[in-house]
Amino acid sequence: MRANVGASTDVGVTREQNEDAYLVAAPLYAVADGMGGHQGGEVASRLALETVEHRLEDGDADLVETVRNANRAVLDQAATDEGLEGMGTTLTLLRLEDDRIRIAHVGDSRAYRLRDGDLELLTEDHTLVNRMVQEGKLTPAEARIHPHRSILTRALGVEGRLEVDLRDHDARPGDRILLCSDGLTSVLADDRIAEVLVREADPQRACDELVAAANAGGGPDNITVVILDLVEGDGDPAQAATVASTAADEEPAEGEQEEPALADEAAPRRGRRRRLILWVLAVLVVLGLAFAGMRAYVSTQWFVGVHEGNVAVFQGIPTEVLGYELYSLVEETDLPADQVAQLDFWKELPGGITASSEERAHELVEQMERDLEGERTTT
Ligand code: CA
Repeated sequence: MRANVGASTDVGVTREQNEDAYLVAAPLYAVADGMGGHQGGEVASRLALETVEHRLEDGDADLVETVRNANRAVLDQAATDEGLEGMGTTLTLLRLEDDRIRIAHVGDSRAYRLRDGDLELLTEDHTLVNRMVQEGKLTPAEARIHPHRSILTRALGVEGRLEVDLRDHDARPGDRILLCSDGLTSVLADDRIAEVLVREADPQRACDELVAAANAGGGPDNITVVILDLVEGDGDPAQAATVASTAADEEPAEGEQEEPALADEAAPRRGRRRRLILWVLAVLVVLGLAFAGMRAYVSTQWFVGVHEGNVAVFQGIPTEVLGYELYSLVEETDLPADQVAQLDFWKELPGGITASSEERAHELVEQMERDLEGERTTT
């Protein structure tokens, strides 16, 4: 089996940077949707795909191991570059084989198969809202517009041990496979996507049309689509490998945008350093207990949890190892934790809700505040 391929990625209408990337390197095809401050999202998605591409050159066949390798590459890079801490990415990786496709998947990018006019979702979103859909607390339509729809329960760049979904699907000539980032699916419902895929026979034109439709629908996020039209024949290993993102084509960020960001960070950094020393002491003990690699992980993690009955932001991970807390308090609030945890969406608060950055953790707190206000005015 081989594929005629179309691919397109676009920054969208409201974002300034494209943190998405795709890979077309027969027989491997992938989409990655990066996240993280500064350049983190772009770096993470590209690094993940470059790692996949290298593994392909090495002739490695294990897709799950390839995804885990990409995860380690993202973690290592984030640990060595302060500006990239907390970066992460989704990765949906497909390999085309003789009579089947094999998909390794983490995050909320998606793979679909169009067969005989029916569009079938082949991947499961690793998001909090999807978990709520599965528990019957939200409908898929509500999930698509939920304010917290982009909170991931799994991503590359978060922890060393990564759970990867691996699924096989039969494939036959005439099948059309779509890989896409959530910038497409958060705007277009499945029936709208199916309508374009059924109507437009040319894979590249279908990609372009889907991107245009998502932009016409507001384009709130980066949009990436890869379409594979499966046809008889041998794979074409000579096909040029491509790791693409429109971000690379854009002009680099201007210096005046970068300077204030660095200046703002100088003051908190001193306090952060003192905390870091405490961290290193605590963590050295842990390292001594054979938790190698934990320091890099812990110091780049954030979560929202409970401190003395109120919502609070912590650095680290919400756990203890042999009596050593792997977290430290960063900010207290006056939001009563028990009231927030009663809201359906925040019931995991007591166990800690992880965030990809300190900024993201504060956004979560602000959202809790708004949700609590909303609850107060409606009840
Ligand atoms: Ca996205």
